[in-house]
Amino acid sequence: MEYSQNQYRLLFEDGESEMLIRCKCGNKAKIASRNTFSNIYTELYCACTDVTCGHTFAMSLSFKHSITPPASEVNQFLFEFVKNMPADKREELMKQTA
Ligand SMILES: [Zn+2]
Repeated sequence: MEYSQNQYRLLFEDGESEMLIRCKCGNKAKIASRNTFSNIYTELYCACTDVTCGHTFAMSLSFKHSITPPASEVNQFLFEFVKNMPADKREELMKQTA
């Protein structure tokens, strides 16, 4: 099932992020800034909070795919799933559920 990009947003505000990023030294890193290219892809610019380390680095964050659709989209998901089944499998399913 294909989702439009507008259905997902990588939402995290500076200072409100629940995402924990660790520097390679093991200490926490802050998201100093970000470049958002779309609702499903952003680049994070991070800085280690340990001043003796001072590492700054970039990471990318993207939405990949759903594993379980949101409850509000289950009917649409099932419709798309059945629609894309091979015709013989779909017919067999219809006979079993009639
Ligand atoms: Zn560090």
